[in-house]
Amino acid sequence: MESSLDTRAVHAGRADLAELGVHALPIDLSTTYPLADVESGGDAYEALATGGREVPGDSLVYQRLANPTVRRFEAALAELEGVDEAVAFGSGMAAVTACLLAAAAAGQRHVVGVRPLYGGTDHLLDSGLLGTEVSWATPETVAAAVRPDTGLIIVETPANPTLEMVDLAALHAQAGDVPLLVDNTFATPVLQQPARHGAALVLHSATKFIGGHGDVMGGVVACGPEWAARLRRVRAVTGGLLHPLAAYLLHRGLQTLPVRMRAQQEGAGKLAGRLAGHPSVSRVFYPGRPECDPAGLVGRQLSGPGAVLAFEVAGGYAAAARVAAGCRLITHAVSLGGVDSLIQHPASLTHRPVAAEAKPDGGVLRLSVGLEDPADLWADLAQALDAVQ
Ligand code: PLP
Repeated sequence: MESSLDTRAVHAGRADLAELGVHALPIDLSTTYPLADVESGGDAYEALATGGREVPGDSLVYQRLANPTVRRFEAALAELEGVDEAVAFGSGMAAVTACLLAAAAAGQRHVVGVRPLYGGTDHLLDSGLLGTEVSWATPETVAAAVRPDTGLIIVETPANPTLEMVDLAALHAQAGDVPLLVDNTFATPVLQQPARHGAALVLHSATKFIGGHGDVMGGVVACGPEWAARLRRVRAVTGGLLHPLAAYLLHRGLQTLPVRMRAQQEGAGKLAGRLAGHPSVSRVFYPGRPECDPAGLVGRQLSGPGAVLAFEVAGGYAAAARVAAGCRLITHAVSLGGVDSLIQHPASLTHRPVAAEAKPDGGVLRLSVGLEDPADLWADLAQALDAVQ
């Protein structure tokens, strides 16, 4: 019998610890590994540098090629996402970069992007910095945007910053053979497992909910063995690797991810309701609000609405800027998914490099709800909103 996600989150990637005689995750900080002889060392190097997995008993050669602490975190995350493998990187953007480079290396330089996306991802695609070319599409026009050289379809659901949702099964049907990359940062595997709806690649900025405490950066892509080999090769060659200490913290973060997610989500639901009733707020963006979920995806694709919301301040940019700066308990800062609440102005910060036609409205603020008492959070928001009324 398969145990529940809560149980697996606590135990994933730890099956051999008792055998090793330890309780906490071992951390291997080696940058290099002893070689038995030139021939076997060379063979191991060749296998790992071209994307192969480590073979028990063989040298790992060099940390950029393989690391056991990172490997454990990858195995745990893959298990929670319901796929065979995962490949971890030094940040979410390093993970996005690796996916684009892996597709481009196979001659597939064209990407179909569905907006909104995190501003950094949008900018990376729109700038063509990596030699890729993007066509922007809506969920309905993806099939029409696909070309023979399309290597990826990239989507976020719920999306940063205004929580739009995409029906992944419907998108997968449109994608045909083109791999679908779903950024699952906002939902986490606790609320949504995109591979079950056709995603070939499930990406996380692990910096956010997975780490959960605002003290570690990382990115990870959960996928099948073929993509994993391609991504490991890119990682080995370009060096966007996750540090073992970061892998340790991210792996530890997985243990409390379900309970944090549910508690933070409960607070977010309460705040979404309070915000909707405040005269300084003209609109609330939250998957739990029926007007934000016309396709009925919460309960079907996404098991809960999550812990991030956005709202539009009546009075536009100037009023929103005052609300963000006026919060006292809630920290005015970018990032999200931690145990403490953060508020920020996407148009000026996280989505600053996004082209004008796709930039969030100047009146919008994004709020990541932490573990504080929702009553205290509301008191803080209310005083900041009252001040701009
Ligand atoms: N994807 C999403 C949805 C994000 O919110 C972010 C960062 O905010 C990223 C990717 C990039 O991740 P990182 O900041 O870890 O590079």
